[in-house]
Amino acid sequence: MFDALTDRLSSVFDRLSGRGVLSEKDIDEALREVRVALLEADVALPVVRDFIAKAKEKAAGQDVIRSIRPADQVVKITYDGLVEMLGGEGGAEGLNISLNPPTVILMAGLQGSGKTTTAAKLGLKLGKDRKKVLLASLDTRRPAAMEQLATLAVQAGVDSLPIVAGQSAPDIARRAMSAAKLQGYDILILDTAGRTTLDEAMMSEAAEIARIANPSETLLVADSLTGQDAVRTAKAFHERLPLTGLVLTRADGDGRGGAALSMRAVTGLPIKFLGVSEKIDGLDVFDAARVAGRILG
Ligand code: GDP
Repeated sequence: MFDALTDRLSSVFDRLSGRGVLSEKDIDEALREVRVALLEADVALPVVRDFIAKAKEKAAGQDVIRSIRPADQVVKITYDGLVEMLGGEGGAEGLNISLNPPTVILMAGLQGSGKTTTAAKLGLKLGKDRKKVLLASLDTRRPAAMEQLATLAVQAGVDSLPIVAGQSAPDIARRAMSAAKLQGYDILILDTAGRTTLDEAMMSEAAEIARIANPSETLLVADSLTGQDAVRTAKAFHERLPLTGLVLTRADGDGRGGAALSMRAVTGLPIKFLGVSEKIDGLDVFDAARVAGRILG
């Protein structure tokens, strides 16, 4: 996912460690190259600026030049900065599970972002954790999307709410809530309708459903291939919906990773999962420290 960035950074650090003794200028130069590498990876400019300012401060404070292995110190400072950028130490965030079942997970996002696929992938993951999962599509404008979710639910080995034609999205949400309660489901995943562009109707419908369903998790699904557009989308949704986390899809096709690297700093929200293939089991838990380690190769 971060192939280009990994290549760029490893060449910066190789050159640095080849030098042995480092001057302040060498370190400045290396950080300047790290800055360019991050910008080329499509990381948002304010995020890059903040990263570099903190790295410079740490390099000065830790007296990198006089340390035994100065180049390693610069790598360590970069690693720490990446971990922070991606959401901090402490491993994966995981999902908030309600003590009072069913735990409702609301999926939001633009059409085509991979929302429905991700809903089913989550269903599979939670089903494997021995949770009883119900999936429900609220996409009343696209009957095909409802059928797609029902088909994917079968593949994931979890249940889906029977489709009733003519119901409004809030009515389906209410029906799903009472079915989940009555039938003892642990988890209810609600897949909201998406549009191809951000629009008021989509936002207010999603906000109304959030009010009705009082979800423990409201996850925005965004396509990592769209880079900074994904970040803008996440920001716009978060202004209208109390999001609790993000899922970035198509990480498998993204060679730059700019959305993943900018999301946390711009939106303040944790990335909880990465979509890593079209297949139903293609969903990885996101762990900032592990991802930062992978970026540095
Ligand atoms: P929705 O309109 O947001 O519900 O999007 P869909 O779930 O229908 O997904 C749109 C397309 O993206 C489908 O062909 C999915 O198989 C594909 N897709 C979803 N997530 C991923 C992913 O993580 N990686 C890849 N390669 N394809 C994905």
